[in-house]
Amino acid sequence: MNEFAGLNLAQPILRAIADEGYTEPTPIQAKSIAPLLAGRDLLGVAQTGTGKTAAFVLPLLHRLAEGKSRAISGRPQALILAPTRELAGQIADSLRSYGRHMRLRSAVVFGGASIRPQINALNRGVHILVATPGRLLDLMNQRHLHLDAVETFILDEADRMLDMGFIHDVKKIAAKVPSSRQTVLFSATMPKAVQGLAGGLLRDPVRIEVAPAATTAEKVEQHVLFVTKEKKRALLGDLMLNKDIERVLIFTRTKRGADRVAKHLDQQGIRTDAIHGNKSQNARQRALRGFRNGHIRALVATDIAARGIDVDGVTHVINFELPHEPDSYVHRIGRTARGGASGIAISFCDREERALLRDIERTIRQDVPVNADHPYHAEDIANDPGHARRAPARNRKRPAQRRRGNSQRGGRPTHRAA
Ligand code: AMP
Repeated sequence: MNEFAGLNLAQPILRAIADEGYTEPTPIQAKSIAPLLAGRDLLGVAQTGTGKTAAFVLPLLHRLAEGKSRAISGRPQALILAPTRELAGQIADSLRSYGRHMRLRSAVVFGGASIRPQINALNRGVHILVATPGRLLDLMNQRHLHLDAVETFILDEADRMLDMGFIHDVKKIAAKVPSSRQTVLFSATMPKAVQGLAGGLLRDPVRIEVAPAATTAEKVEQHVLFVTKEKKRALLGDLMLNKDIERVLIFTRTKRGADRVAKHLDQQGIRTDAIHGNKSQNARQRALRGFRNGHIRALVATDIAARGIDVDGVTHVINFELPHEPDSYVHRIGRTARGGASGIAISFCDREERALLRDIERTIRQDVPVNADHPYHAEDIANDPGHARRAPARNRKRPAQRRRGNSQRGGRPTHRAA
């Protein structure tokens, strides 16, 4: 028996869930759905990959189905804010999938795309609007959109929204939504700024937390490869000879870096594309489609562009460069452990990145096992602590791993033997 049945969701929603092949709610779904159906505000700490989208979408669809009100031109009844167009698009896809047996209308609006079709969609009337903050405000200022009918206000990836500088926009938007609304805020992390925002928006929220950073990190088989900056591209080319790397997301810190890496792989005959903020919306969607359907084996991305990318079956994540924020490391490697799957994350670390690695290990409360079994291994970098040693990380969950040569855990090789 399907365990969703006990959650009192409407039949068309249960059918759509069955169509998706889900047999049981994920932990965040199991905890969120009942309070949301009861109309409570909710503060959810959960990362992508935990099933958080369905956790807020399913109760929303249920409530709208029960309400049976018709879609009104320019006046949505539910508003979902997301930091990036990719995430907004994916939430809209989820709405379509889970709502496929219902007659609810939704639309998605984001910047970087022509505004006219978005205005037309709003004019036709929508129950649910998914939006990025900037475009939403544009549409409001142009009076194509009014938020006075919004009953459910959802903010997804609030931490990223603030990172991207949307705090004022979000506050402006929230002020236009009736205060009698239900408010839901999801965030992967809960820094002070997000707590402050949540405090101002939510009323007596249920607080739900799943999969703290360390847990996500533990599902992923991680390796660090010490290599000089100059040899990183050669090392990447070498790794890509391994056929087990079927679908790989490669992270760089900068847009230019992403383009350079993509070009290099392309020249080696590897089907590659890059996705970052300088690419047109069309180019990004094309890249994502290609990655999803397997035409593209390697997708090179910057952190912001990769937010919310929802692609199952990513076998590997490669950190060509380590992120400055340890949380980004957790987000990145979480891309290869979606929907309960496991995956492999390989990080390149040059001399300047030693300190970043140390911060990451402290955050995930484990040492990343070193793989020295490759032709570009730089022993001097491995032995260099990078900066003055700080106090060792406390509360380590596991004894420190051996610092060298313990590459192949779990029988899945990260690359061919050198
Ligand atoms: P999210 O955290 O919302 O990005 O979802 C991560 C992935 O989990 C998506 O690919 C969903 O299709 C999938 N998913 C969501 N809920 C379930 C479930 N109950 N059972 C299996 N997969 C799920």
